[in-house]
Amino acid sequence: MALEIRTTRTTHPKALPAPAELGFGKHFSDHVLVVDWSEKQGWHDARIEPYHGFTLDPAASVLHYGQALFEGLKAFRTDAGDIQLFRVHAHGERMGKGAPRLCMPALETPDFIAAAKAFVNVEQSWVPAAQGTALYLRPTLIADEPFLGVRPSSRYKFFLIGSPVGSYYGGDALKPVRIWIETEQSRAPRGGLGAVKAAANYAASLQASVRAKKAGFDQVLWLDAKEHAYVEEVGTMNLFAVFGDTLVTPPLSDSILAGITRDSILALAPALGIKAEERRVSVRELIEGQKNGTLKEVFGSGTAAVISPVGELSTGTDKIVIGNGQPGEIALRFYNEITGIQRGARPDTRGWLTKVVSSASVSAAAQL
Ligand SMILES: *Cc1c(COP(=O)(O)O)cnc(C)c1O
Repeated sequence: MALEIRTTRTTHPKALPAPAELGFGKHFSDHVLVVDWSEKQGWHDARIEPYHGFTLDPAASVLHYGQALFEGLKAFRTDAGDIQLFRVHAHGERMGKGAPRLCMPALETPDFIAAAKAFVNVEQSWVPAAQGTALYLRPTLIADEPFLGVRPSSRYKFFLIGSPVGSYYGGDALKPVRIWIETEQSRAPRGGLGAVKAAANYAASLQASVRAKKAGFDQVLWLDAKEHAYVEEVGTMNLFAVFGDTLVTPPLSDSILAGITRDSILALAPALGIKAEERRVSVRELIEGQKNGTLKEVFGSGTAAVISPVGELSTGTDKIVIGNGQPGEIALRFYNEITGIQRGARPDTRGWLTKVVSSASVSAAAQL
């Protein structure tokens, strides 16, 4: 049965921050969507309410054993004034596949889509219009049964909040970043949680990331946990390298997150005339590629930044400098193509967009 969502609108709407003030994840829109789950009732009591904090029992399982899973997707305002979600179906499917890894129930994909659409519809005024901006949605699933025994919770909460965002790194969207090659810690071991968007993966990544920042780098390059030889991800993004004229990305595994931006890049590559391969890439291959001139580009991909060019990779002893401080040509082409589709400036031939508000209905409503 489809989820029925009750809406209580805020009586104290806040003002949308100026585009230059947005940053990433600093501001939150006026409402929160919440759905509860119990063994008896399944998903029930779906509601959109004025933004508020939760009361969690101090014994709530999520606070002790970390059953928490999230998603991140964006709603865009087109130049024509439509509001649309990018690949909401794929995000719903991914959450649905990830939840069982943490023994959690997930919303059915159609309910996930309905929740995202209903939320964005209520938060229309929070979808910024400027180039490079969006309303970032953060659907999250947590275990909230008060019980300290170690077993899956019998109660869960799905919630969704919205944050109007500018470019992820502030200022220059495509400024190449400096990356520390992490050879000590691992983000995700084989057989671990790396393939799902578990909050725990982020907890595991913070220390290396803080150390890298202290050493003057922007993020870390994660290597495979077993040999520390093969590249896996960069920060919280999937990794791409260009050797000669071929785009290469590591194949999905249980330690690599199946990024939807990654999938979009691989889907778009043939149409852009770019040869793409999914295969393992070692740090050694990157170092040799730079020495012999075949390594042309390295970039990360993710919903927040879309594409993030890498200008330098360093282990402390080995330093790989890529490009000349400018984004690579292939990185730029994917950035323009994906952001063009998201904003309605390029055709969506793959059904990636879900319209939430159409400019026609907005102007019709305005005339009433
Ligand atoms: C979310 C995430 C990505 C990027 O996924 P997108 O769907 O493209 O946003 C990549 N790696 C990790 C570890 C992630 O958590």
